[in-house]
Amino acid sequence: MERISILIVGSGPAGCTAAIYAARAGMPPLVFAGAQVGGQLIQTTEVENFPGFDRPILGAELMERMQRQAIRFGARWLSESAQKIERVDDFFVVEGEYTTVEAEAVIVATGSVARWLEVPGEAEFRGYGVSGCATCDGFFFRGRDVAVVGGGNTAVTDALYLADFAQRVTVIHRRDTLRADHSLQDRLFQKSNVRFMWNSEVVEICGEENPRKVKYVLVRNVRTFEISECAIEGVFVAVGHIPQTKWLQGIVGLDDRGYIQTQGGARTTCPGLFAAGDVMDPHYQQAVTAAGNGCRAALDAVDYLRYRLGRE
Ligand code: NAP
Repeated sequence: MERISILIVGSGPAGCTAAIYAARAGMPPLVFAGAQVGGQLIQTTEVENFPGFDRPILGAELMERMQRQAIRFGARWLSESAQKIERVDDFFVVEGEYTTVEAEAVIVATGSVARWLEVPGEAEFRGYGVSGCATCDGFFFRGRDVAVVGGGNTAVTDALYLADFAQRVTVIHRRDTLRADHSLQDRLFQKSNVRFMWNSEVVEICGEENPRKVKYVLVRNVRTFEISECAIEGVFVAVGHIPQTKWLQGIVGLDDRGYIQTQGGARTTCPGLFAAGDVMDPHYQQAVTAAGNGCRAALDAVDYLRYRLGRE
């Protein structure tokens, strides 16, 4: 079994930045990059708010550049996800799908995954009209009527993307104001083929079995409790995220929503285990804050190895 100084789990902006900093500090890490190399940003279209890019850059391109930058400094990449972690004396044994490594320090940057509505019909029609990724599946709904559920940045970004080729986009939101950034909201309000169902919750997704496809959603007005039918063929769910921490249960302190608890920088309740990005940040969840956290995690991990373990 290979023994390494730093293992980074996750390859979004947090994991990539941690890899760049650890490698440049003379401790080139191994990265378990996960099934989705590049994290959630590769599902995004244009990124407009990452400093240094005065023109929008595609999320996938930004992540490819970060990965190349880390590899240039000596980081190694494996396309697998961590399944299990165990602390043995002063190191960790981490099992991926195919590879098991011993690491003296671990940086967890596993991000989060889309939350679902958990209403009848959602699981049944997933992949047949229900999607959690507008940029992946939006193309199939050219000229059709679709709905986006949610009011945050993801929902508004998805609705903007879909408005360019769907016939009509209905944004279904449980309140009467959006949570998304005002610059995004302003752009959405200008779209002539976007309408809003305010104070509304999807209670059921309905459709046909043969062939399996969505025909409409049942929507409840949260004020009047009235239920109405909204005819659409695609439902894009954008109601937030859940941190990917199941594999860490028992080894590190998590908050009541499952986010890793950190103390001053990237340190966690488990010495030698550091956290960065959406997996420890329920609030900001931006590419740039994740990258900043990744930098802190790498510096903290290098510091831990150099001084706590008496290196150098
Ligand atoms: P979010 O900001 O947590 O928004 C989730 C939205 O879904 C909220 O509007 C929420 O309603 C609604 N919601 C939550 N649970 C629901 C349920 N069970 N039923 C119906 N609606 C529900 O999540 P996000 O939009 O995925 O964004 C996550 C983070 O990524 C944010 O920090 C965001 O700024 C960032 N992000 C940034 C960009 C960008 O900068 N361009 C793009 C995408 C994401 P309420 O408003 O009533 O709570």
